[in-house]
Amino acid sequence: MPDAMPPEAITPVESWGRLSREPHTWLPLTNVGEVPHALRAGRPGIAHGAGRSYGDAALNPHGALWATRGLDRFIHFDQAGGVLRCEAGALLRDIQRLALPRGWMLPVTPGTQIVTVGGAIANDVHGKNHHLAGTFGHHLRRIRLARSDGEVLDIAPQGPHAALFAATVGGLGLTGVITEADLQLERSDGPWLKTETIPFGTLDEFFALSAESERTGWVHTVSWLDCLSRRSGTRGIFLRANPAAGVERDAPLARSRHMPFTPPVSLVNPLSLKAFNFAYYHAQRRKARHALAHYERFFYPLDNLHGWNRMYGPHGFYQYQSVVPSVGGREAVQAMLTAISRAGQGSFLAVLKTLGELPSLGLLSFAQPGVTLALDFPNRGGATLALLARLDAIVHAAGGRVYLAKDARWPRARFEAAYPHLAEFLLHRDPGISSAMSRRLMGK
Ligand SMILES: Cc1cc2nc3c(=O)[nH]c(=O)nc-3n(C[C@H](O)[C@H](O)[C@H](O)COP(=O)(O)OP(=O)(O)OC[C@H]3O[C@@H](n4cnc5c(N)ncnc54)[C@H](O)[C@@H]3O)c2cc1C
Repeated sequence: MPDAMPPEAITPVESWGRLSREPHTWLPLTNVGEVPHALRAGRPGIAHGAGRSYGDAALNPHGALWATRGLDRFIHFDQAGGVLRCEAGALLRDIQRLALPRGWMLPVTPGTQIVTVGGAIANDVHGKNHHLAGTFGHHLRRIRLARSDGEVLDIAPQGPHAALFAATVGGLGLTGVITEADLQLERSDGPWLKTETIPFGTLDEFFALSAESERTGWVHTVSWLDCLSRRSGTRGIFLRANPAAGVERDAPLARSRHMPFTPPVSLVNPLSLKAFNFAYYHAQRRKARHALAHYERFFYPLDNLHGWNRMYGPHGFYQYQSVVPSVGGREAVQAMLTAISRAGQGSFLAVLKTLGELPSLGLLSFAQPGVTLALDFPNRGGATLALLARLDAIVHAAGGRVYLAKDARWPRARFEAAYPHLAEFLLHRDPGISSAMSRRLMGK
């Protein structure tokens, strides 16, 4: 959604997966003082940040979207203690660029920095350092929340509103509109990271590398899988990184490119996928094992290709991210990869990572200890839905769940079975708020 939208327009809005494009009443919020009034005017609505959720969490077809990007002010930065107070529409990118030259950085970041603080809280996002740092919610000191009845509350992990805080972190915007947050940043040694790139040939090798990296204190770990290789075993590339202190180098020039048009058919088909996965695997394999990487290249590799989500063509794509517990996790990941390969629908992006033991604070937070697999599938209608249903069955049998930030089609019964704190969460819902996702998964 362009930032230069006219105030209060009825306009088609799509999410990052581009699976639908339906009219919404777009209500831009630009002044925190006016938020309670705006919420009363546009009910039932839902907050919409940078629109980087793949599914329907930030959609409300034929209803209102409270667009928060205009609430983007930095209010106060405690340089000594690293606590930033900012409005909820501020982008993570702007926080990184403010904080890094001052010796601080975000303690947790997802794989794109074009995400608002409100969106990062409402999905309780995790990053490549989850095994050490937990999720975004662990680093919040306070949230200011506007409810649709006009109430404005300051809520924190402890204190009188602790239960509402737990519902709001990971709460998909359904407890109110977040207008401000106090974030505890982390000390930084600068923008550079020391990286190590290690090819692996089986899932056992992946788990051994993860365990060794965690044991030896690697801060960031993530892996890419070639889910189309016909070799026996599952080959992939394990990436790990630590902050690099005292590097005096200019940042690489950010070469920004645009996906120039939406191709009439998906560019991602079995042939292109196979070629891409083969070429990517061998390119990474040939890379120097040890290197220095700028944080923007390492954390946000896709951010410079604007509109990359359009390469999947006019029907969009599903991202499927699951987490399954460590016990049985290897078998569940293997079963998912086998199902994908049998269906002939490999994923352009297949990312595998172990999540750490720190329990998430949010009642509907996704992250739980275990292993998470994220996959992109072009939307081929019934065939894709049938494959995703097979993956659901594997995840369910393993005691895992699907990430709601990426979901657009999970059945309500699966959701109810996999998110055990749902009943507690529902006590805190704001009745003036509703989204396409809440109606699909919660009935209203
Ligand atoms: C390339 C890419 C990589 C990603 N990598 C990761 C990753 O590594 N880890 C991870 O966890 N996620 C990842 N994500 C998902 C992304 O981080 C989340 O979907 C994030 O929440 C999007 O934030 P947003 O500002 O775009 O929010 P939107 O998508 O606009 O909204 C997301 C949710 O937040 C709510 N919301 C937004 N603003 C507010 C507010 N002010 N008050 C209350 N509710 C609000 C909305 O109602 C909605 O429910 C990735 C996404 C992309 C596109």
